[in-house]
Amino acid sequence: MSKKIENLASGAHFTAINIGAMNDLPQYTEMHGKVFTKEALGASGAEVSLQLLPAGAGVPFFHAHKENEEIYIILRGRGEMQIDGQIIPLQEGTMVRVAPSALRCLRAVQDSELLYMVIQAAQGSLKQWTGTDGVICPPDTTWIK
Ligand code: ZN
Repeated sequence: MSKKIENLASGAHFTAINIGAMNDLPQYTEMHGKVFTKEALGASGAEVSLQLLPAGAGVPFFHAHKENEEIYIILRGRGEMQIDGQIIPLQEGTMVRVAPSALRCLRAVQDSELLYMVIQAAQGSLKQWTGTDGVICPPDTTWIK
């Protein structure tokens, strides 16, 4: 049976979940050990997923997307990603943006696991970012130390 995402708290304007320890990600068996969080978070603008590939393991298929670009963020370990036939080495700190139509797959190298996060959003959908969308509010100095 596949591991389930734990709901921690929610309010009118937020949802908090816990997906568990990164080492336990392979227990999400419904999608080859990958956990998708959009539904549990109630996210409306992006999908965020995480996966831990054991050493020597790879995603069992190549894929592309219709509208969404993906940003792969390597959190731990080493691997390789193939994008349109080009192979890119992956290690902690590597980030790769992939356009929707690109054919992609990734794998852990033989002697290292690969922990990574993928943020998926519609290509061209980001109209504002922190510099123009963020609003600094007066601090509650009783909470911020
Ligand atoms: Zn994808």
